[in-house]
Amino acid sequence: MTTSPNNTDEGAGPAAEGQVPARASGALVIDLQAVAENYRRLRSAFLEKPLAAVVKADGYGLGAEQIAPVLVKQGARSVFVAQLDEALALRPLLDRCHPAVSLYVLNGLMPGTEADFVENNILPVLNSLGEIDAWREEAARRGRALAAAIQLDSGMNRLGLPQAEVTALHAAPERLEGIVPTLVMSHLACADEPDHPQNAEQLAAFRAAREMLPMAPASFCNSSGIFLGRDYHFDLARPGAAVYGVNPTPEAASPVLPVVRLRARILQVRAIDAPQSVGYGATYRAAGPARIATVAAGYADGYLRSISGRGRAWVDGQEVPVVGRVSMDLLALDVTEIAPDVACAGRMVDLLGPGHGVDELAQEAGTIGYEILTALGRRYHRIYSG
Ligand SMILES: *Cc1c(COP(=O)(O)O)cnc(C)c1O
Repeated sequence: MTTSPNNTDEGAGPAAEGQVPARASGALVIDLQAVAENYRRLRSAFLEKPLAAVVKADGYGLGAEQIAPVLVKQGARSVFVAQLDEALALRPLLDRCHPAVSLYVLNGLMPGTEADFVENNILPVLNSLGEIDAWREEAARRGRALAAAIQLDSGMNRLGLPQAEVTALHAAPERLEGIVPTLVMSHLACADEPDHPQNAEQLAAFRAAREMLPMAPASFCNSSGIFLGRDYHFDLARPGAAVYGVNPTPEAASPVLPVVRLRARILQVRAIDAPQSVGYGATYRAAGPARIATVAAGYADGYLRSISGRGRAWVDGQEVPVVGRVSMDLLALDVTEIAPDVACAGRMVDLLGPGHGVDELAQEAGTIGYEILTALGRRYHRIYSG
C-alpha cells in the first residue's frame, strides 16, 4: 500500500464532504491557490521575469474562466489561447480583470477572421508570410498600425515561419509595414528532455532567426523550457502544464503542486467468486472470493479506457486496483481488502489526488499528464477552492 492521496497538507486540499451534493457522481476539486503558487514558483525559476498565462483548451480542461483571473492577479499581462473562439469567449472577462491584458491566438490568423481580431482587441500569432501579408493589408485598410506576435519555426516543424520565410522577410522588411511586433516567439519540441540535442539546436536557430527580425521581446520557453537554464529564457515565458500541476521536469521531483483532486462515488458493491468475471470482455476473473465496487466514472469522463486493469484508486486512504475494462460511465475496483462499511455504496473514492496525481495516472494510461487534464469530463461537479 502506498501513500494516501488524502494525507498531504499541500495542494489540491480535500474538499469538505459537505461541499459535494448527494446527486454528484463525481467531484473534481480544483485548487486555485495551488495554481497561484505554481505560477509564483515558475516565475521564481524564470528569475522573476514576466510569465504569460496559457489557458488554451479551457485552461487545460480546468476552466479558463476561473484560472485566467487568478493568473492575471498574479501579474500575467499576456494570455495565450489556441483558437479565436476561445479568445472571443475570454476577452470580456479579461477586460474586467485588468485594463491592459494582451490576448494572443496561438493558431494564428485564419483567412477572413481579421476583423474579429481587430474589433475584439485580440492579437494573432502570425505563423507565416501569408498571415503577415494579410495582417499588413488589414492595417492598411484601417489606416492604423496593428500589433501581433510573430512565431518562427526553430525546428519543431509545427507552426511558425520556416527559416526560408524568415530570410525572405529579412530581405523585404516592408512586408511588416503597419505591423507592430509585440513578441518574437518560437516553441521547443523536446524541452522535457534536458539532454535532447534538439534543445540546443533550436536555441541556436531561434537566436539566428531573431537577428533577422525586428527587435521585439522574445519568448521561447514553455513550462519545461524554463528549467533548461537561463540561456533559454529570453524575455517572456509561456508556461501552461506546470501551472496546472503537471511535472515540467519528468526526470526529477516535481517543482509544482498538484492542482486537482478527483473523486467518484461507489454505486454498488458485489461479492463474486472464481471463476466469475468483471466487465466488458470478461478480461478480469476472480481467483477466489472477492468484493467488487462499481464506481461512477468512465472513459466518457476522461478516465481513459487504456487505464483498464492498470489503474489504482483510494478508498478512505487505502489503495485498491482498477479491475477489468473501464466502460463509458463506470469502472470497477477490487475492494476485497477494504472493510465492508468503508467500501460501500455512496462512498466517494479518490481517482486523482496529491499522492497519485495527473502524472501517475498518465503513466498508468500510457499517456502524459496534459492529456489526462484536458480529457477530464464535463459531468463532474466542479469545486474551485482557494
Ligand atoms: C501549449 C503551448 C505552450 C505551453 O506549453 P506547456 O508545455 O503546457 O507549458 C507554450 N507555447 C506554445 C506555442 C504552446 O502551444
